Amino acid sequence: MDDDWICGRLGEDEPWMLGAVNPPVFENSLFTFAGAGELGEAIRNEDERYVYWRGTNPTVDLAQRKLAALERAERAKCFASGMGAIAATISSLVSAGDHVLVLGAVYGPTTQFLRYLEKFGVTHTHVDDLASGDSAIRESTRLLYFESPSYMRYEIFDIPAVTAWAAERGLVTVMDNTWSTPIFQKPLTMGVDLVIHSLSKYVGGHSDLVGGVVAGPSRLIRPLALTEYQLYGAAMSPHDAAKVIKGLRTLPVRMPAHQERGLAVARFLDDHPAVRRVNHPGLPSHPGHALAVRQMSGFSSVFSLELDTDSREEAGAFIDLLRHFRVGVSWGGFESLVNAPALTVEESVRATMGIPVGLVRLSVGLEPADTLIKDLGLALEGVGRLA
Ligand code: PLP
Repeated sequence: MDDDWICGRLGEDEPWMLGAVNPPVFENSLFTFAGAGELGEAIRNEDERYVYWRGTNPTVDLAQRKLAALERAERAKCFASGMGAIAATISSLVSAGDHVLVLGAVYGPTTQFLRYLEKFGVTHTHVDDLASGDSAIRESTRLLYFESPSYMRYEIFDIPAVTAWAAERGLVTVMDNTWSTPIFQKPLTMGVDLVIHSLSKYVGGHSDLVGGVVAGPSRLIRPLALTEYQLYGAAMSPHDAAKVIKGLRTLPVRMPAHQERGLAVARFLDDHPAVRRVNHPGLPSHPGHALAVRQMSGFSSVFSLELDTDSREEAGAFIDLLRHFRVGVSWGGFESLVNAPALTVEESVRATMGIPVGLVRLSVGLEPADTLIKDLGLALEGVGRLA
């Protein structure tokens, strides 16, 4: 199955669609049944039957079918946010007394959630590489959680090597693949057990949606759908599912455009004397570039630069000098955005992740690259004058 077809057409030629060019949004909170027996049977299989919106919905199901197919997964479950997917997935895999290994830098609230789980007796350890993983692993370690590229630093991990290492030690692997989208990277084909996305980024693509998904084998998705999905209540709404479906229609076209603009901006910054380093795995100067080319088919356009400074004030001044980039969290939409973790991420989380003070994150949108380059050039000159 080809990704363009999955994004544009999969599941859309079925009788219930009545030939509609966009899928109907099922707005009903509940479904009714011919009798009590049928209702009881449906509730026993609520991950597959339509009973109540907090569990299942046909519009959400269509988004799930497409996302599962894109990730080459048996099943996917959509959530009200990426964080909803992360919290439910981790919770479904651990019990009191268990330990989680986190490889590399991951999304800040994921670390905060793991800290939160300590009150239920679930502990975790952050490691930078597999060699350190060997010292940190315990009898009670159940799960290896990672992102590749990693959060904010955009380090690349050798996914087949990580999953082989985890499998030898009996660990389940969960990977957040939001950065690449399923268009540019398919972790399940490299041995990852469960893949998570925030759909609020490139998949939605228009900064008008917050959503998440987990995809993987039925043996792991079904229990999660019947338990954490129902009990945490972070269900995706059918309206958001319709936006996900709309976002998917153009995802295969938007991602190469993001790639091209992001790389043009990254190359400019890589050559700039006021920039210590550019963390973009698509640049040949990136230490993980060769590996990235091996396991990814393209690069998205969120990356970081490290200003030649260790001062929070200078990082803030640089951001304030930008005129085209808009200042804000999140990424993956049409509009270019800038953010600096030293100014926004909780200090202890920033330090755990090894994120330098002068690190600035850019989300390169779909505007012309030369407009963005000019904006960055002027801000870098301006901050040089202030220093
Ligand atoms: N994963 C990554 C890499 C993210 O950057 C984010 C949000 O910024 C999330 C997960 C969480 O997604 P959401 O904001 O949809 O809850």
